[in-house]
Amino acid sequence: MIKVLLIDDDEDEFILTRSLLRAVYTTDYQLDWVDNIQQALEKIIEQQHDVYLIDYKLNDGTGLELLERCKRKQISTPMILLTNINNPDIDNQAMEFGAADFLPKEELSKTLLDRTIRHAIERVKSQAKLVHMATHDALTGLINRTLFCQLLESAIFRTKRNTNKLAVMFLDLDRFKIINDSLGHNIGDLLLKAVAQRLENVLREEDVIARFGGDEFTVLIESTNKKTQIENIANKICQKMSTVFIIGDHDLHITISIGIAIYPEAGTNSLTLLKNADTAMYYSKQSCRNSFKHFEPYMNTDMNKSLMIEQEFRLAIIKNELRVHYQPKKEVKSNQLIGAEALIRWQHAERGLLAPIDFLQIAKEAGLLVQMGEWVINKVCEDIHSWRELDLPTVCIAINIASEQIKTKNLAQMLCKALQEKQLTPEDIEIELTEETLIQNSEENHAELDQLRNCGFKLAIDDFGTGYSSLSYLKYFPISILKIDQCFIQDITTNPTDAAITKSVIDMAHNLNMITIAEGVESEEQLALLTRFNCDQIQGYLYSKPLPLTDFTKLLQDSNIDQEQKMSTDIFNKTALFFASK
Ligand code: C2E
Ligand code: MG
Ligand code: MG
Repeated sequence: MIKVLLIDDDEDEFILTRSLLRAVYTTDYQLDWVDNIQQALEKIIEQQHDVYLIDYKLNDGTGLELLERCKRKQISTPMILLTNINNPDIDNQAMEFGAADFLPKEELSKTLLDRTIRHAIERVKSQAKLVHMATHDALTGLINRTLFCQLLESAIFRTKRNTNKLAVMFLDLDRFKIINDSLGHNIGDLLLKAVAQRLENVLREEDVIARFGGDEFTVLIESTNKKTQIENIANKICQKMSTVFIIGDHDLHITISIGIAIYPEAGTNSLTLLKNADTAMYYSKQSCRNSFKHFEPYMNTDMNKSLMIEQEFRLAIIKNELRVHYQPKKEVKSNQLIGAEALIRWQHAERGLLAPIDFLQIAKEAGLLVQMGEWVINKVCEDIHSWRELDLPTVCIAINIASEQIKTKNLAQMLCKALQEKQLTPEDIEIELTEETLIQNSEENHAELDQLRNCGFKLAIDDFGTGYSSLSYLKYFPISILKIDQCFIQDITTNPTDAAITKSVIDMAHNLNMITIAEGVESEEQLALLTRFNCDQIQGYLYSKPLPLTDFTKLLQDSNIDQEQKMSTDIFNKTALFFASK
């Protein structure tokens, strides 16, 4: 049934319209009637009708005035202006004030009235659908970035006039990409929907939640004066997100990072507030996941600093400021040096020797990891070649490879070329990959890793136990070495759980014919326990810190003496020459 409200000062018109509508057999109409603007507005606000028929001439004004007032109130129900003056100006004005249509009273018939009403309803409906599509996210049903920015603008306008504050939160799911890449977009989409739902459950109806893009959400909290109130909400969101999500057959554990920008301290316009909330989110992600951070002015200075470092790092590659340090690895059984891990350093002109933590993330964001990785590979080949020239013992060098390098799809080719140029073979190096790298695009990675293994490279999983921690992929990928992360080794002598995990990881690796290496071994007690657990190799400060090229070369030379208990004058002279050239 279509409910119609006629707004006309003439009762005869009501009777006429009612009889016309009653004569329409195909649609069921209910006609109500008011004769003035005031009453009409009261009824319109109640939103009980599907369409309004408005007469141009009313007792307390014109139909155009009523249309204008409805437009200001953003009434979306269709309104049709009835007029008995054939005046195109009025018709045009009516459309400008948002009338869905106009009808000359002289031409009124049941067919025309019925058709105009139905068309007006349909048109408004499809218009509303279009507006909804343009302002909402199809997946989650939340509002989108466009509408969020508009609502934020209006909220700022309102807040300017009172003494309240408002807060913008920028939320980003941690490690969402891994879930999407490894479990597929369907699961990723379902997870985003579930996250949106949880957000709606935690927040109040008056708070605005938007899907800003990808795995980013924004929240607007208005009419607040207390920072603690915002912090409570942020804490509640983190807490809600940390409960397991059951999506299909998967139990997904996720965390969220939140940045908060409060008006007016963190910005007085929508763009600045959003940008600063995003910056604070970035800091929150860096420091501790599943937490929030308020925006602080220093963050922007730091961001500028990051940009500066990025520029400097591009130059560092050209200016030859990168170095490779070698951290020795020892075989537990024989107590012999059997290899080393190549670890990148940056000899910065002013800041001295920088560790990966100071620049790796920046290099990643600047898209420089592949270039940097190639530099490391070539440098390692060059160094192994010079040890050969010195007749020093052959040890295998492990190189850390980033997922970006796997994605280039020509890593095997690149490695083989670098080795060939220095007359080396794939047995001279080992490739270290993290669990995260393996899990991303696992299908594509699989082919790439198979190719590496077929070329003769040994593959190691680095930092085992800190990534996705699914043991199933150990069988799936061609892995031959497992490096147990230092976080397990750290407390192995005091924490029985860590000891139990380490022992079972070693046993499991052995069952799968893999070699185990314990990373970050710092004490004799840790070594003793690892020896008892049958760990194959150790790496850590107990044995040696990562060493610059000359020191590692010396170590190789000393181990040569240990092994052979002799050193020819020939080697001695060659080594002396080598050091002089460095
Ligand atoms: P990683 O591959 O797990 O390397 C081991 C890290 O642990 C190194 O840090 C090493 O200095 C440190 N370490 C070794 N023994 C001990 C110990 O006994 N105690 C403690 N507390 N730490 C120890 P570093 O050199 O700062 O490297 C950090 C990470 O940067 C590496 O972790 C690796 O993921 C990455 N990285 C280093 N070089 C490269 C590179 O050439 N390419 C890529 N893609 N990543 C690299
Ligand atoms: Mg490593
Ligand atoms: Mg490691």
